[in-house]
Amino acid sequence: MDRRDFLKPLFATAGGLYFDVYGQVSSDSEVSRPIRKFGPKLKGRVILPNEAGFASLSYANNGRYRLDTPWAIAECLTAEDIRQSILWAREQGVPFAPRAGGHNFAGYSSTSGLLISLTNMKAIELDVKTGVITVSAGVQNRDLASFLRGGDWLLPSGTCPAVGVSGLVLGGGVGHNSRWGGLTADHLLSTTLVTAKGEQMVCSATQNADLFWACRGAAGRNFGIHSAFTFQLRRLPRSEILAFGFEFQGAEALTQALAACNKLNQNAPDTLSCAFICSSAPEHHVSGAVYGQYIGSKDDGLSILAPLMIAKPSDVYAEMLPWWRAQAYLTDEEGPSHKSYWSRNRLMREPLSDAAIALMVTQLVAFPHSSSQQADITFLYWLGGAVNRVAPRDTAFVHRNSQGIARFTANWAYNADASPPADVADWMAQVWDQSSSLLTANSYQNFPDPALQNWQQAYYGENLTRLMQIKKKYDSDNVFNFAQSIPLA
Ligand SMILES: Cc1cc2nc3c(=O)[nH]c(=O)nc-3n(C[C@H](O)[C@H](O)[C@H](O)COP(=O)(O)OP(=O)(O)OC[C@H]3O[C@@H](n4cnc5c(N)ncnc54)[C@H](O)[C@@H]3O)c2cc1C
Repeated sequence: MDRRDFLKPLFATAGGLYFDVYGQVSSDSEVSRPIRKFGPKLKGRVILPNEAGFASLSYANNGRYRLDTPWAIAECLTAEDIRQSILWAREQGVPFAPRAGGHNFAGYSSTSGLLISLTNMKAIELDVKTGVITVSAGVQNRDLASFLRGGDWLLPSGTCPAVGVSGLVLGGGVGHNSRWGGLTADHLLSTTLVTAKGEQMVCSATQNADLFWACRGAAGRNFGIHSAFTFQLRRLPRSEILAFGFEFQGAEALTQALAACNKLNQNAPDTLSCAFICSSAPEHHVSGAVYGQYIGSKDDGLSILAPLMIAKPSDVYAEMLPWWRAQAYLTDEEGPSHKSYWSRNRLMREPLSDAAIALMVTQLVAFPHSSSQQADITFLYWLGGAVNRVAPRDTAFVHRNSQGIARFTANWAYNADASPPADVADWMAQVWDQSSSLLTANSYQNFPDPALQNWQQAYYGENLTRLMQIKKKYDSDNVFNFAQSIPLA
């Protein structure tokens, strides 16, 4: 009997189990004993299928992984809960995975075993004088934003409110404030994690410095489970900034706007940041939107952005907004995802060539769009500037000489098969193959792509060997092991 078979009866007879977890039934069956002993060791609780809280904590943002539900959830509230969970899962031979914000593109925070949920670890502590902040592992971008809103301090992070700070910082963390401020990971002062052996460890520039290096870019679930992160925040650079959005309709406008946006980004100051989202639409129509911020005056910002006007935007928004309102404008408000999606990305080292722009627009026009399947090709001009003033080997985040990320995303119905529909898969194969000579083979590790060949090089490049050595040192049994985890040296 393998460990799945061993656990199946445990969860199949859920009614009996609930009692076991809380110790109300004195069944000493082989399967019930371990989990009955485990539940009370947590300050949080063990949650079983059909119990309150199970559905929300096991919810997968990407519908592709909705069926990878755990057998049980350990709702952790403290570092000791994390330790107990790791030790219990290892002792029982149960597979496990940590989850914070649950936004991993490739389902790497899903497991059929024990889900070690950090989601309810929400503590935040700020020293307002120094701007040093410590957040617990379950804090999401939106928790941090509402904590900091109105104050003088900020942490450069991403645009999605529900993304967890844990996953974000461990893989880098890019957004509209990275070009002037740097990555989220560049602001990390220290982090506390529990290793596979149950040791609690602090990593910083002076303690376990090799692991600290690795934690800034390796991506989550590689060395241990982090309970908290301490960051040095930045002062707001300006109380009011320019927030803008330009919209374009049709292939011709999109082609012109992409060329203009690409060019203006080559010479733009670090204080300008934008993203260009190009979307499929019914009947092979396409549309696009450039949105972003400029930390400076409206006149200066609009003069930098003026080349976009050649593409005759269908709508323009450009307003000076107080800092926190501008950040809210740039936030991708999202409810629960109702999509299954597959996202692939290539880093942009050079400006996009005319051939690359033509390919992107042609491919988007060709997408088999319907009410249940859509695509977008997005250019995130969020690298360069301060990100590239750190050397590629100074942290595990190697992508220090790129200008942005080109991301191809196709989505389809949440409840459909995990594999993309055949016409979507064909489309993605074409975009991917044809873009190989026009963009780099490097990929952002925080947008993991389960189909990526040669992902080790694509995510880590010249830092791979060192990461493998650190993996061997801190997780020699390869306990933190999944499809794209860092291999042992
Ligand atoms: C809609 C959407 C928008 C996004 N926007 C941005 C953006 O603007 N900028 C950007 O840089 N990225 C963005 N991302 C990518 C995001 O940064 C990564 O997906 C990130 O890893 C998500 O972190 P999480 O905690 O939400 O996810 P989870 O799925 O909980 O975790 C991600 C990975 O880290 C592991 N993990 C989680 N917590 C811990 C922990 N405490 N210790 C050890 N391992 C842990 C998990 O097992 C998993 O492998 C976006 C993703 C989505 C889906």
